[in-house]
Amino acid sequence: MTVRDAAARPAGTTSSTGTAALRGLCGGRVHLPGDPAYDVHRAAWNLAVQQRPAAVAVPHSVAEVQEVVRAAGAAGLRVAPQSTGHGAGALGEKDLADVVVVRLSELTGVTVDPTARTARVVGGTWWKDVVAATAAHGLTAPHGSAPDIAVAGYALNGGLSFYGRQHGLAVNAIRAVEVVLADGTCVRADAGERPDLFWAVRGGGANLGVVVALELDLLPYADVFAGMLLWDREQAPEVVPAWVRWTRGAPESVTTSMRVLSLPPLPELPAFLSGRDLVVIDGAVLEDDARADEVLAPLRALAPEVDTFARIPVTGLLDVHMDPPDPVPFVSDHAVLGELSDEAVDVFLEQVGPGTTTGLLFAELRHLGGALGRPAPDGGALSHVDGSYAMYCIAVAPSPEALAAGAAATSGIVGTLDRWSLPQRVPTFTDTREDTRSMFGGTAWARLARLRDEHDPTRLLLAHHEV
Ligand SMILES: Cc1cc2nc3c(=O)[nH]c(=O)nc-3n(C[C@H](O)[C@H](O)[C@H](O)COP(=O)(O)OP(=O)(O)OC[C@H]3O[C@@H](n4cnc5c(N)ncnc54)[C@H](O)[C@@H]3O)c2cc1C
Repeated sequence: MTVRDAAARPAGTTSSTGTAALRGLCGGRVHLPGDPAYDVHRAAWNLAVQQRPAAVAVPHSVAEVQEVVRAAGAAGLRVAPQSTGHGAGALGEKDLADVVVVRLSELTGVTVDPTARTARVVGGTWWKDVVAATAAHGLTAPHGSAPDIAVAGYALNGGLSFYGRQHGLAVNAIRAVEVVLADGTCVRADAGERPDLFWAVRGGGANLGVVVALELDLLPYADVFAGMLLWDREQAPEVVPAWVRWTRGAPESVTTSMRVLSLPPLPELPAFLSGRDLVVIDGAVLEDDARADEVLAPLRALAPEVDTFARIPVTGLLDVHMDPPDPVPFVSDHAVLGELSDEAVDVFLEQVGPGTTTGLLFAELRHLGGALGRPAPDGGALSHVDGSYAMYCIAVAPSPEALAAGAAATSGIVGTLDRWSLPQRVPTFTDTREDTRSMFGGTAWARLARLRDEHDPTRLLLAHHEV
């Protein structure tokens, strides 16, 4: 807590008296250190993050969210909304001794309006459930690569999907939010009602409140041409430059990721993955089959060992990237890169190509550009991302030693591409504590900071990326 924050809190309260006042709330689902369920509920999806908040509240209703926010405010505590903890890295670097984590994992649900082509998604709902509900109406939504990410933490902070180069950042699909503010009131914000709050929350997320529902515009797809191409890493010197060249001319209808992966030998992995070093290109092509085949032809000409690209139901797009089905301890680093010269590709391959021991699970480049790079005319604080590629490097970190080694490995590899990196950071790929000015344009950041101060003058709310 800063001096300014402390001054704004009720005098005479301490965190221990504060948390005691929370104990009976949420039907008894407020877990304090020492309580039997505290460790279960404080655990983030990223198991490398050891967050130890003053309490974890697990509300089942909006009224319970409101009572926790009000009680925390009265007790001089702060409130950090969290849905799954996929993005817990940055929050976990903060001192949470005076913070109540409001875990939204049990406040879920989705209602689809097929005529309006929208969905109302409750606070902690996973993408998997939204995509299943919308697919029943021949519609889908701009979800990310993993089924068990929550809509809120992903969409409020940008959201890079395989629909992205055609349809833009997921945050631009938000039509309205229902949000519990720092004073405990629950309000709706959309383009007509509370437009400033609506602008700020789209990018500013938890800096403005606990979002208990979002209304999303849906996409008109029942199926999609999607899949992956896989090669042994020995072919990286051929495949990586070819993908980079191909991305330069790829139409906006195609969004792909390219990863150099090193998978441990695990019995639960299929034989073609277990214990192997690989190059994988995956994503979606929003074209008819003939045109999609034409677009992919230069990559297929590189003779992949596995090629799963085909027309699939939209629900299948959640599996294409093969994200882990269960929580994982990991550490990551990230940069946004501009155009990559041949020299940049050589530097990347020197780090992760054949014969190297990277210490990483993967080094990924996600193709940006297209609609991802254009400010949305009616967008919020964050509506586009500069640059050509989002680089995301991940190392598995099951122990403190592995965490330190993984942090050094990920930042080392990202650092070698410094010359090609841009100042902007993608909030959803930033798992460390960064200056949030790097996530918004300077003017947008200043307006966001002003609106944050107006809505939360005592800085009760704690976002993972705090403005
Ligand atoms: C395996 C994996 C795959 C991923 N794939 C993609 C991808 O394809 N594209 C992409 O863009 N990102 C991706 N990410 C990153 C992911 O989108 C972010 O970590 C995102 O923030 C996760 O949201 P969450 O709500 O599930 O996580 P949380 O850690 O619960 O939330 C992150 C932050 O969002 C805010 N927040 C969460 N819920 C609320 C709420 N209800 N109200 C207000 N604020 C809230 C809080 O500040 C919170 O600290 C991936 C991450 C992993 C680990």
